[in-house]
Amino acid sequence: MKHFDVLVVGGGHAGVEAAHAAARMGVDTVLVTMSQNGIGVMSCNPAIGGLGKGHLVREIDALDGVMGRIADKAGIQFRLLNRRKGPAVQGPRAQSDRQIYQNEMIKATKGQENLEVIVGEVVDLVMEGPRVRGVVLDDGSAIRAKSVVLTTGTFLRGIIHIGDVSYSAGRMGDRSSDRLAKRIDDFGFSLGRLKTGTPPRLDGETINWEGLEAQPGDESPTFFSFLTNATQARQVSCGITHTNAQTHEIIRNNLTKSSMYGGRIEGVGPRYCPSIEDKVVRFADKESHLIFLEPEGLSTTTIYPNGISTSLPENVQIEYVRSIVGLEDVKIVQPGYAIEYDYVDPRALNSSLSASSVPGLYLAGQINGTTGYEEAAAQGIVAGLNAALEAQGKDSIQFSRADSYIGVMIDDLTTRGVTEPYRMFTSRAEFRLSLRADNADQRLTGVGIDLGCVGQERQASYRSKIEKLEKARGNLEYQTFTPKEAARVGLKINEDGERRTGMQLLAFPGVSFSDLQKMDPSLEAVEIETQKQLEKEAVYANYLDRQKREIELVHKDEAQVIPGDFEYDDMDGLSNEMKTKLNASRPRTIAQMARIEGVTPAALTLVSIKLRQFK
Ligand code: FAD
Repeated sequence: MKHFDVLVVGGGHAGVEAAHAAARMGVDTVLVTMSQNGIGVMSCNPAIGGLGKGHLVREIDALDGVMGRIADKAGIQFRLLNRRKGPAVQGPRAQSDRQIYQNEMIKATKGQENLEVIVGEVVDLVMEGPRVRGVVLDDGSAIRAKSVVLTTGTFLRGIIHIGDVSYSAGRMGDRSSDRLAKRIDDFGFSLGRLKTGTPPRLDGETINWEGLEAQPGDESPTFFSFLTNATQARQVSCGITHTNAQTHEIIRNNLTKSSMYGGRIEGVGPRYCPSIEDKVVRFADKESHLIFLEPEGLSTTTIYPNGISTSLPENVQIEYVRSIVGLEDVKIVQPGYAIEYDYVDPRALNSSLSASSVPGLYLAGQINGTTGYEEAAAQGIVAGLNAALEAQGKDSIQFSRADSYIGVMIDDLTTRGVTEPYRMFTSRAEFRLSLRADNADQRLTGVGIDLGCVGQERQASYRSKIEKLEKARGNLEYQTFTPKEAARVGLKINEDGERRTGMQLLAFPGVSFSDLQKMDPSLEAVEIETQKQLEKEAVYANYLDRQKREIELVHKDEAQVIPGDFEYDDMDGLSNEMKTKLNASRPRTIAQMARIEGVTPAALTLVSIKLRQFK
């Protein structure tokens, strides 16, 4: 029988990140997955990142994880979302070549020291008393390990639905994992059912691209990895089209045939990522919905039409898709479908992602009720690190809400649980002004170096970056300038005679590093990347105190009673979704409100301030 320190089940986004993290920690690791080619498969859209999600990828990268580097290699269109807003809420996103992503992930996994891959279906767990000690494969063989990480995604009792057709599957083309699901039942975890959907895939050669708007990537791409400095794949544009009144009518006329609307699915789906059926019903007044036609890669003609996921029968999918401009003659190469699967209530886990009642067992990814590659990978890295630490007999590592989006997600999951598939939003983070994508390395790479999961290349590049930043920051904090000196280079600063440091001047709107260079030529030696980073830091420094005060205020108000007839509907700034949630749950105190799944820090601040006005 083979023995390992850490055994990871599943080669999806959580699994690869967990296995790589454990291997980087220097422990003997094995990744057991149903198929070698299934490593790094993107089950749904060929894209990584986005709002909130891009932050997670940066944090994974800061800990020397694989997702960011490989997304950069596979990136065929890079866009920084929310570019016009502040850096705190900007989200790097990249359209990926699905095949390059997968090939690179397989290559990285095969090339990772201390990591072996075994192909097989895990059907049982080896137990020693209450402790998990390994797994049993479908051929009856057993593999022993000191700790086991389960990352089985949508595979546990997965059922695919297309119209009135339903069958068992982990995702299109893969069998479900039912025997392992039964084994998990025995632990007495609270299990639930969730669902998610995907759109039909289109043959790009049958799309009439003429007349469709093209959406190119950014001229200057924003990468995920702190180690990447150039694109590696050819860059392409996406197309844009829209649904129309006819599309909506076809969908409305066939709603009862949709698996979701025909009552054939019991699982709960993500409200913020609605199917086209959902959109047509929920936003009945909207005459059209946007569709991004996203290439799945450079060596395929397949197009992913982002925005029209569905579980309508195939013939209805063809009809409604062909009612859309540019898609009149389109060929569907794979129908859209919904999938329903088991998840484990993540409140059964502690913040290291180990199961509180089953020593040696860790869970990460979609199995914990989340959705998305990035959310899965971020949990994977935490579970992998902690499984390795356990195998080494060391204390676990915890990530906090104040240090990372990873910490926000794990705290949300393990304390509040989920009522729908959980995805990351920047609004979930109360410390979002300090948890920026641009400073993920400054927040986490040092932690990773201390833990032992960061390789030599990143250590060297991080140390050199920090050295440059500290030197330039030190200079800017030491140097002071009068408003007159500033005025001489064209800066309009209050004429109060006060001397201000370079960092303070940088915080003024419109002041850039190059303005400071005009006043002090010694700053000309500072590299452009360091300049940009200091500009961001300076702007946010002013707001961090306010952020801290607001958070302290909410904590102080935790015991504050919310009257039973409190009017959420009158409150400006509360989203309709939040009003519905709060009206339905009617929390009695601020502390209780904070524990409701999906309640954002901003909502807590608003209610807390309103209650203070009543006092
Ligand atoms: P997965 O990527 O599902 O990987 C699970 C891995 O476990 C696979 O490698 C599988 O082979 C392996 N495995 C399972 N059981 C066993 C076993 N018993 N033994 C050995 N190996 C096993 N996310 C979004 O963000 N937006 C979307 O719109 C979206 N739509 C989706 C639509 C569909 C139809 C599907 C299937 C997924 C969708 N997702 C979407 C979710 C996204 O694909 C997942 O969140 C992500 O892939 C989860 O990663 P994971 O590592 O947890 O699991």
